[in-house]
Amino acid sequence: MPITSAYAAFDNHSALRPFEVTRRDPRAEDVTLEILYCGICHSDLHQVRNEWGNSSYPMVPGHEIVGRVVAVGAGVTKVKPGQIAGVGCMVDSCCRCGPCERGLEQYCEQGNTQTYNHVERDGKTPTYGGYSRLIVVDQRFVLTVADQGALEAVAPLLCAGITTYSPLRHWNVGKGSRVGVVGLGGLGHMAVKIAVAMGAEVTLFSSSERKSADAKRMGAHEVVVSSDAKQMKATRGRLDFILDTVSADHDLKPLLLALRLDGALVLVGAPEKPLSLPVFPLLMNRRSIAGSGIGGIPETQEMLDFCAKHRIGADIEVIPVQKVNEAYERLTRGDVRYRFVIDNSTLG
Ligand code: NAP
Ligand code: ZN
Repeated sequence: MPITSAYAAFDNHSALRPFEVTRRDPRAEDVTLEILYCGICHSDLHQVRNEWGNSSYPMVPGHEIVGRVVAVGAGVTKVKPGQIAGVGCMVDSCCRCGPCERGLEQYCEQGNTQTYNHVERDGKTPTYGGYSRLIVVDQRFVLTVADQGALEAVAPLLCAGITTYSPLRHWNVGKGSRVGVVGLGGLGHMAVKIAVAMGAEVTLFSSSERKSADAKRMGAHEVVVSSDAKQMKATRGRLDFILDTVSADHDLKPLLLALRLDGALVLVGAPEKPLSLPVFPLLMNRRSIAGSGIGGIPETQEMLDFCAKHRIGADIEVIPVQKVNEAYERLTRGDVRYRFVIDNSTLG
């Protein structure tokens, strides 16, 4: 079985450090990827610190994976050795239920198999993610990536890209839609770029003034500082759809009030504790609130192709794996512009 170098968390408070992972012997449908880059998602931080209460250790995080195919099983038709490919948040699902048949594997009725901090469908083998050199994945969960350079900027699309693209599509955002994006982090900055490319008029809600110029450069038409009550009041009743990417507790009321009749506030951020839900702003103007989880494999491919066509990549800071703990500290403080990406060659 292939052994590969990795970085792992061993508990919820210590630094990540080197670890060796044994990957399974590739099966007929398996693709072996040499990982080139892996993005650091805030979900990695939530899980390393056990903020969702579901962590098991050792944990090798990482679900924004781009790499080169180094081997394929006899039954693999999707990719060939030498090709660039990606792996996102899932590595398996039942592949038979209604949602799986519709390409919504993330909502598999049996539960999907997450790329890390999870167990394979045999019920016992732990999954280990992309802070590693090699990964072996069933071809159904492998995405093809256009090899047009800057692959490090493509890695974050595998989670941040699809998690924002999917709800934007599902809620029919298009030309002329008035869209709000809350939080300019990894997910938020992808949401701004993708919504703008879809033709929407985008308002970014940010907790401070600091990121205004960046947001405008990314295409946001307006920036509203969410801590400024006056600015928030001026947005009342103006937006059709708001995508909320905030990773911590925050007030939903002024966001709901920013929606028009039948507007929707969709949460993709996953804060540690439940948010409080004000009901009256929902009743007024028949507003709705919903959530959305990552995206299925066909839609992830569609998103990658959309981003390649529109030349959309993440704004990134590439780091050697040895700096992952420092990156986590900076992510905790919100000091990220706008995604850390590990150069996996530094794993040795
Ligand atoms: P991130 O890069 O840390 O960005 C989060 C942004 O939220 C920050 O940049 C900040 O933006 C804003 N923010 C943080 N704390 C805040 C506070 N107390 N009040 C108001 N705004 C605050 O994180 P990310 O990687 O984009 O992930 C965002 C969230 O989505 C995480 O909870 C993650 O676990 C979750 N997630 C969910 C899915 C899914 O399937 N639904 C998939 C991936 C990630 P400003 O500085 O602009 O205010
Ligand atoms: Zn993620």
